[in-house]
Amino acid sequence: MSAKARAEESENALSSVPFAHASEEEFARILDFYDVAWRYEPRSFPLREEEGRVVEAFTPDFYLPDLELYIELTTLKQSLVTEKHRKLRLFQERYPDIQIKLLHRSDYLSLLAKYGFGPFSEVEVAGIHEVLISASELERRVGELGAQISRDYKGKEPLLVGVLRGVICFMADLMRHISLPLAIDFMAISSYEGEQGEAVRIVKDLEEPLASRHIIIVEDIVDTGMTLNTLLQGLQLRRPASLKVCALLDKRARRLVDMPIDYVGFEIPDEFVVGYGLDFRQKFRNLPFIATLKRDWLQTQAQTKQSPE
Ligand code: 5GP
Repeated sequence: MSAKARAEESENALSSVPFAHASEEEFARILDFYDVAWRYEPRSFPLREEEGRVVEAFTPDFYLPDLELYIELTTLKQSLVTEKHRKLRLFQERYPDIQIKLLHRSDYLSLLAKYGFGPFSEVEVAGIHEVLISASELERRVGELGAQISRDYKGKEPLLVGVLRGVICFMADLMRHISLPLAIDFMAISSYEGEQGEAVRIVKDLEEPLASRHIIIVEDIVDTGMTLNTLLQGLQLRRPASLKVCALLDKRARRLVDMPIDYVGFEIPDEFVVGYGLDFRQKFRNLPFIATLKRDWLQTQAQTKQSPE
């Protein structure tokens, strides 16, 4: 079987499994990558019975038939790991002949790093708290957005306008999922303290004319909405045939200026995020996933003078 056919088969198999958690799907991808056969939650083991009824059971996440090994992932909070350890002890007492391995968060992250998630092992990871949106979730959603835009703009040739610099990963992936002729252009903006509070200024303008064209503004994240509002007002003056917005992340809880976003990748909570193009003081842009930062780390950073872009 060709590598492409194998990748497609693996993708089909993955999409039919009802993984409870994104980290489990990532792990299945790693196993596929190394050609290790696996089954997801194939068996529940009774741990405790009362009056002939099972009152506690344990369902390991994976079974690797070639190795006759069960795997349980613990990418959970430390407080929950203790409970897993208790269950595992009971399991081992009751089923001493069955091999099981608990994969800790740190083991799991180093596996991820090995499996093409290289940047995670190489950039400064000290401040990373947790993965909010995994690489495979991003890939899947960006594909869906691209397909939707392809349908909506059928027969047209949109111009994608990216807002630098956070948008680079999203733009690069999104445009490859749009099956239409299209053009791209970029602008850069910076915010400053104006007379009426925070204002936004264009520091690099577009090179493409907009008149009579179908424009899609591609944004990494919409937070207060101030940036997008200023951009929309400015671009509308250039008389495009249509003007829509596609944002990867929507932090709706913090919106100050209300405006419709036509295409949204993910709605996220009010937390500062990095990765997949988004930075904190120019760091973390090369992470292949979206992650949150540790609060105590952010506090120590806040004591130094620079501010994030
Ligand atoms: P807004 O004008 O909507 O408040 O802010 C939009 C810009 O703020 C984004 O384009 C991005 O540069 C920055 N921003 C807002 N929230 C975040 C975040 O959680 N992480 C990062 N890295 N940048 C953010």
